[in-house]
Amino acid sequence: MNKAIEHRTRVHPDRFARNRLPWQQTQWDYIQACQRADRLPHALLFTGSQGIGKRIFAEHLAEKLLCTQASLQEDACGYCTSCRLMRAQTHPDFYLIAPEVNTSIKIEEIRALISVLHQTSGQYKVVLIDKVEQLSIAASHALLKTLEEPSADTIFILITHKSEALLPTLRSRCHRLRFMPPQAQLAQHWLQQQNAKADPNLLQLLLRWNEYAVLSVHALLFDEKILRLSTQFLASVVALRTELVDPLTLAKQYSAIDPEQCIVWFMRIIMDLIKIKLAVSIEDITRSEHGPIMQDLADSLTLNFLFAYYDHLVSLRSCYRSAPLNALLLIENLFCRWCICLEADDVIS
Ligand SMILES: [Zn+2]
Repeated sequence: MNKAIEHRTRVHPDRFARNRLPWQQTQWDYIQACQRADRLPHALLFTGSQGIGKRIFAEHLAEKLLCTQASLQEDACGYCTSCRLMRAQTHPDFYLIAPEVNTSIKIEEIRALISVLHQTSGQYKVVLIDKVEQLSIAASHALLKTLEEPSADTIFILITHKSEALLPTLRSRCHRLRFMPPQAQLAQHWLQQQNAKADPNLLQLLLRWNEYAVLSVHALLFDEKILRLSTQFLASVVALRTELVDPLTLAKQYSAIDPEQCIVWFMRIIMDLIKIKLAVSIEDITRSEHGPIMQDLADSLTLNFLFAYYDHLVSLRSCYRSAPLNALLLIENLFCRWCICLEADDVIS
C-alpha cells in the first residue's frame, strides 16, 4: 500500500469535529455560494494562524462534497454511505496527507497520490493536504503540475498557516480563503461550552496569551502540566532575567512542550515589551494583567535588544521548522541565549 493511500484514514480526532465551528460561517457560506453557482474552484488554499480550526473546516467541506444527499442542505447528511465511510475514516475517494512536524512531504508521496488519482479517473474525489508549507521543493513542483492540469473530478484543499513559504506559482494556482480567530466573546463562549468546569478568568487569559488560537487553548486545558508551564512562562522569563533560576534547569522543565510553542510564547512576551517601549498602553498588550511586571521588564531592557532577540526567535523557529532539532537543545538555546543577550544588553545600557 502506498503512503498517500495510508494517509487518507487520518481524520481529525477531536470530539467536537463533528460540528462546524461557529466562527467560520462566512467562509462556509462563501463555499456554499460557489457550489450553488457551480463555480467551486478545483484547488482551494486555506490560510490563517494555527489553532483556529482550518483543518476541521476542511474535513467538513470534504464530507459535504462527497455526501450523496447534500445537494439540498447546508451540511453533509451524516447517514448516506459516503458520510458513513467518512466518519469511519475509510472513504475510498478521500485522500489526506498530513505530515508530522519537521517532516517534509516528499515527492514520492505526491507521485503516489497522482498515480492513484489517475487510476480512479471518473470518480469524484477530494484531496486534503494539511501543512502544505512542508512540501519539499520537488513535491511542490509535482503538485503544481497537477494543479495546472485540473481534473473536473478532483478537488484539492490545501491548508497552511505559512502561505509565504509556498511556491508563488503554487499559491497562484489556488483560490485562497482566509480564516481568522474568533472574536473574544465567541471564543470564550465556545471554550466554556466544551470545558464547562474551566475557570472563565483562566480561559480569558489563555485566549489572550495565545492570540485567540482557540483550539490550541482547548488542547492546553486537557494537559495539566503544559497548562501549568504555560501560565508560568512569564514568571520563568523574569526569573532568568533576575538570575533566580539556571537556564539549563529551566529548559528541562519545558522540554515536554513543543519547542515551537515555547518560541511563540516568548515572541508574544517580547512583542508586548516592544509595545510598552513604544508607549502602547498596558491595557492593549497581550499580558495586560501582568502590567507592573511587564513594565519593570521593559524598563530594564533596550529596544535594540528586544528587536535583536525577537529576530533570534524568528530564526530559531525557522530552523526548527526546517530541520528536526532536538527539543531540549532548542529550549536550552532559547533560555541560554536570552541570559547571554541580557548580560550583553546590561553592558550596552
Ligand atoms: Zn451524506
